Amino acid sequence: MKVMTNSAMGTFQACPRKFYFNYVARIKKDTDSVPLRFGSMVHDALERRLTGQPLFDEINKQYDKAIMQTLNPYEKYTMNCERHAVIATVLGYCDHWQSDGETMAIIDVEKTFNYIEDGQEWQGMKDAVVKLAESIMMPERVALMEHKTTSKDVRDEGYWARLSIDSQINLYYQAMQEKYGFETVLYDVIKRTSIKPAKVPVLDDDGCKIVTLKSDGSRVYNKNGTPKKAVGDSKTQELQTVMEDPKDFGDRIYEAILAEPQDFFERRELPRLDINLDESAKDRSAVVRQIAECESSGHYPKATQACNMYHSLCPYFNICSTCGTQKLDVIPEGYVLKGSTHTELERNRK
Ligand code: SF4
Repeated sequence: MKVMTNSAMGTFQACPRKFYFNYVARIKKDTDSVPLRFGSMVHDALERRLTGQPLFDEINKQYDKAIMQTLNPYEKYTMNCERHAVIATVLGYCDHWQSDGETMAIIDVEKTFNYIEDGQEWQGMKDAVVKLAESIMMPERVALMEHKTTSKDVRDEGYWARLSIDSQINLYYQAMQEKYGFETVLYDVIKRTSIKPAKVPVLDDDGCKIVTLKSDGSRVYNKNGTPKKAVGDSKTQELQTVMEDPKDFGDRIYEAILAEPQDFFERRELPRLDINLDESAKDRSAVVRQIAECESSGHYPKATQACNMYHSLCPYFNICSTCGTQKLDVIPEGYVLKGSTHTELERNRK
């Protein structure tokens, strides 16, 4: 592999074998994970906001396409819910940061960059470069702005401590410092909602809830002949429910955001120190040397402590645990060849 990205470096550091599958064999599972799609869609809308384009046209197009491609009704439903979760989150974001026009000016928005360091080419895609307005405490300053979506608490100090030495932004900062003259980094963190689609009661023509017998599904009535509206005996009766309409689900998320926006959005400036940048440059060189060693020996070691990272099993586990050798002559079932080596850089090429 000739070109490196921060994402590829992080994969190699976590597990060289995973790096092999992802960036050398270039295979991926044939479906994106939900958190990745959510984050990518939110990023897409925020980019459009910064450039003054319609926010949701492209998002709706992408979801419509994904929904058409599956025959599974449950997948169709969850994708539609996710679409409305993205829309609600972005609308809440726009409300919360509606005074951005007074506090910052856009200098540049999402573009890939190339950077050569010690003979190695690096690529990345910045979110935005902005000029932050002067305030009582701070002079006007140029910031590298980075959007992040997370399922964590947006005020978690551990999360922010890690961002202060984040290798991705150290690379971007170093690569574009000469062009833009950064003075700080502005992290713009957006929480992915933990609200899930709910079951809602089915209503009859009179707007009443429907209680039925578990044994035969017949409706349950009170002694006076009126239909029961609540379950009396949960062993024998049940309330008829359906999954919430995706649009209603989105509305519920939007209301939750309006009620507690500080739980969903947080921005902090984390300026870069020279020592952070120097250390990151040395880390990158060390990883590039290690990859070259794997390449020349043809062996990318497994790091099994990474198999359950992020509370889910590595997407390559099936092939990793059954292949005697890491060499793949055919693409295994359930996997597809990636369109490009660094799919993380494709967002602005749609
Ligand atoms: S299954 Fe584990 S060892 Fe294998 S590639 Fe994934 S993280 Fe690495």
